Amino acid sequence: MVFRHDKKYGQNFLTDTNLLSAIVNDSGITFDDTVVEVGAGAGALTAQIAKKAKQVISYEIDKRLETVLESNLSGLSNVQIIYGDALKNELPSELKPYGYKVVANLPYYITTPLLFWFLERDNPPSSLTVMVQEEVALRMSASPATPDYGALSAVIALRGTAKMTRKVGRNMFSPPPNVDSAVVRIDLNPPEDNIDYAAVTRVIRAAFAMRRKTLVNNLMLLGLNRENAVKAVEAVGLKADIRGERLGTKEFVEITRQLGMRIMQNA
Ligand code: SAM
Repeated sequence: MVFRHDKKYGQNFLTDTNLLSAIVNDSGITFDDTVVEVGAGAGALTAQIAKKAKQVISYEIDKRLETVLESNLSGLSNVQIIYGDALKNELPSELKPYGYKVVANLPYYITTPLLFWFLERDNPPSSLTVMVQEEVALRMSASPATPDYGALSAVIALRGTAKMTRKVGRNMFSPPPNVDSAVVRIDLNPPEDNIDYAAVTRVIRAAFAMRRKTLVNNLMLLGLNRENAVKAVEAVGLKADIRGERLGTKEFVEITRQLGMRIMQNA
């Protein structure tokens, strides 16, 4: 039977074994690692991961792939496929914070929600090695005050470091997507006790909510009045008319502390 790729699920599969094995090498996984994959597809990447990892847990939304996967992954006893939407399924409870890694050729229509889903959860992975559109790869690893810098770059920088490991042309996929791609590896830092990551993430998301607006205007979306927003920004040594795109992790953490104090004082 010929498999009909479903565009709506971002079904652009990889087949080149050298590329698949290079992606797995980029991830740095070892036989001690439990790996989560989103989008098993026909199982080409899953099989390469399974050869190097202790265990692979892979989500696949399209149940039509079940027979293909059973055949392509037969004999690999360390693979578990969970059929369903990764964003709607909970991760197995045995996955402890920083106790697993993500390796995936992501479905592009939900790249950003999936990255946030992993980064913002109580049990984040220790690293993510993901194939994404090249344009998203540039955003993931962008520095403050550059055109590609945004909420995604800032949230990743808050949690760790992102590095593009390779570019991948569209013709390496079947069928080829309309854009070129790249592999990015994010290594997450161990969390610091004195940072409220969820709060800083809320502040980052607000800071970039409306790109043309100043940081103060965007911070007001969090329910603050202008005076308190200005005070928080000035308290960390920044000008009241600065835009969010100029701030790095340290400033976002400091502003969040300032806002927390002001919100509590007003409560
Ligand atoms: N890993 C395979 C490969 O590299 O050839 C397939 C990658 S393909 C880019 C993305 C896969 O994600 C597709 O098989 C698609 O059906 C699946 N997918 C799409 N949305 C999903 C979701 N919300 N949860 C789980 N899998 C999803």
